[in-house]
Amino acid sequence: MPSHHTPIVEKPPRPPEHAAGTPPVLEMHWPDEAATQDFALQLARGLQQWPGGTDACIELHGDLGAGKTTLVRHLLRAAGVQGRIKSPTYAVVEPHTAAHEGLPWPVWHFDFYRFNDPQEWADAGFRDIVAGPGLKLMEWPEKAAGQLPPADLALTLQVEDDGQRRVRMQAGTERGRTWLEALRAH
Ligand code: ADP
Ligand code: MG
Repeated sequence: MPSHHTPIVEKPPRPPEHAAGTPPVLEMHWPDEAATQDFALQLARGLQQWPGGTDACIELHGDLGAGKTTLVRHLLRAAGVQGRIKSPTYAVVEPHTAAHEGLPWPVWHFDFYRFNDPQEWADAGFRDIVAGPGLKLMEWPEKAAGQLPPADLALTLQVEDDGQRRVRMQAGTERGRTWLEALRAH
């Protein structure tokens, strides 16, 4: 009969995957757009559950046609955005309203492809948007390098010879690390 005096022998905790110097990276393979959609759904659910998830900063890297906007569109739909989803290529940022626990959830879709005037960063209020509440999804973040804070998660999409996608996800913040581990465990 165990009492509170019985010593409890606990197994040592399993080290996280990124222990021993391995960077926190999640490698994925999306054979088709349905796989992109599956991931988008999983990510949207995660962002709605994880502490701070609804304010995440996520960078999307990859060549033209890699599938960045496609992922954003599926993510927005999964998060409850209705109606036409415009791409922000000309506007740099396109605001959306998703839903979280019945409340409006702001989502900012940036595309910095045509961004080349650092003055625009301050003038257009991008600094405030990025630092403010809501989900920030950023295509071509390298074009705004030096302006952006470290992203919680950075995805890099690559088209393989057969048209399938190879995807690397990296965490850039402590909370991003915990989210990445949650996705890995899924
Ligand atoms: P980007 O925003 O990176 O320039 P887009 O999302 O606009 O790229 O275009 C990607 C194209 O590739 C779309 O035609 C889309 O249907 C297709 N695509 C996206 N993801 C996949 C995938 N996982 N497998 C195959 N085709 C995909
Ligand atoms: Mg795009």
